[in-house]
Amino acid sequence: MNRRPFSAAAAGLLAGLAAVFGGTPSAQGPPYDLLLRGGRIVDGTGSPWFRGDLAVRGDTIVRIAPEIGDPATRVIDVSGLTIAPGFIDIHTHARRGIFEVPTADNYARQGVTTLMEGPDGSSPVPLAPFLAKLEGLKRSVNIGTFIGQGSIRSEVIGSVNRPSTAAELDKMRALVEAGMADGAFGLSSGLFYVPGTFTPTSEVVELAKVAGRLGGIYISHMRNEAAGVVDSVKETIAIGELGGLPTQVTHHKIIGKPYWGRSVETLRLMDEARARGVDATLDAYPYTASSTSISSALLPASALEGGRAQTLARLKEPSSRAAIKKEIVRAIEEERGGGDPKNVVLASCGWDASLAGKNLSDVARLRSFAASVDGAADATLWIVEQGECQGIFHAIGEEDLERILRHPSTMIGSDGEVPIFGRANPHPRSYGTFVRVLGVYARDRKVLALEEAVRKMTAFPAQRLGLLDRGLLRPGMKADIVVFDPARVRDAATFERPHQYAEGVVRVIANGHVIVENGAMTAARPGVVLYGPARRAR
Ligand SMILES: [Zn+2]
Repeated sequence: MNRRPFSAAAAGLLAGLAAVFGGTPSAQGPPYDLLLRGGRIVDGTGSPWFRGDLAVRGDTIVRIAPEIGDPATRVIDVSGLTIAPGFIDIHTHARRGIFEVPTADNYARQGVTTLMEGPDGSSPVPLAPFLAKLEGLKRSVNIGTFIGQGSIRSEVIGSVNRPSTAAELDKMRALVEAGMADGAFGLSSGLFYVPGTFTPTSEVVELAKVAGRLGGIYISHMRNEAAGVVDSVKETIAIGELGGLPTQVTHHKIIGKPYWGRSVETLRLMDEARARGVDATLDAYPYTASSTSISSALLPASALEGGRAQTLARLKEPSSRAAIKKEIVRAIEEERGGGDPKNVVLASCGWDASLAGKNLSDVARLRSFAASVDGAADATLWIVEQGECQGIFHAIGEEDLERILRHPSTMIGSDGEVPIFGRANPHPRSYGTFVRVLGVYARDRKVLALEEAVRKMTAFPAQRLGLLDRGLLRPGMKADIVVFDPARVRDAATFERPHQYAEGVVRVIANGHVIVENGAMTAARPGVVLYGPARRAR
């Protein structure tokens, strides 16, 4: 190199550039800690892959070039394999399991290196102790969180159906502000759930304004994903527009056969909003079944108001029991039940592990209820009375799913959790979302180009979250990297056998450290806790 620094400032600048581009070997030892040689680089931008070498020093990508000849502490031949940025999952329920399995093997082994928590309006309040507890954990992957509108409302008002008073609204605003100051990336809502469902739009807007002022986004599990899905998309867009912040429809789907096809209209609404300057985006998971609790999916919100004791009291009273049952029948026929009790499968029941994997018709038979939707509604009431279960609901159409995945404003999010391996019968999305998009929707069905699929898992969510040093393969970016075999990458987890790790993911690197090697977890725990814009600005 023939650089001749002509001033101290220029010398400093050149040293900085050299550090970024890796041009100057350090005084002792090889210039790079890690060199990936000969892979197909899919850089996260959506541009076509190119062949190249990629060098890492510390936790940072320092050089990408057609060929890097300098020595490295560790050289890995990745010829024939694809290199992409580590995947960023914008919607997880990772606090279900992350403290039991801090390595989050189900995610890491798919190539996910960043998890976002606090979705669907549900987060710890306040966030600081939760974030401190995460800091104390030896993690494999990075984790950040949203602050939840439902949890805040529950804290201030309880789970009752009424608008807030001015004093309560002030208290909720202060809690959003505190959550953002603690490090949230924005405000999440679950307007489908109790108590989110009791929140008027205007109240959500007031809280969204606080998150927006502090640089956060709004991300929503909408009020209704079935009959009311179009109105709910309008509401989500309006909250972004009136709140003055980016807005996201999370896990977008159309639930219930009578409503299939409505994604044509919901996506048109998103396009129109973007055209007029509203920063509205979406995420989705690649499955035609959803998962949540049996009671939130099949019982009306009015039955759940006030908490479990009140729900049980309503079920004891014959006329309200009959009214609730009628709503359950409707939900099975037209909405989450997918028109057939066999389409509702129990994922886990804390009070009886043997029920996992059974569907509502099986439960009706076990309990000697009628072999009909009416009997399935009785089985549902019995389950709720025993103590609740998580369910899986097969009620989403493949055409809507593909249309939503293909949309340029849709990114990928799993809506999964960190399962205890082998326990219960969780939705396979926790083990398979990202590799299913790569294997099934990109390679096999060609719904997406591989590069576009990778963009939806990397640069796009990173941009959404303001994670400007992740999500791309570029010198200067954090070294979160996945190496996979494009011919073999696939999801092995099925609804029948969900506890199956991803296949074809050869190596995963987080912050410069290899966390998955030849398909198995290493001892490295380089994951960091990520903080949102208000805390970063402090
Ligand atoms: Zn949700």
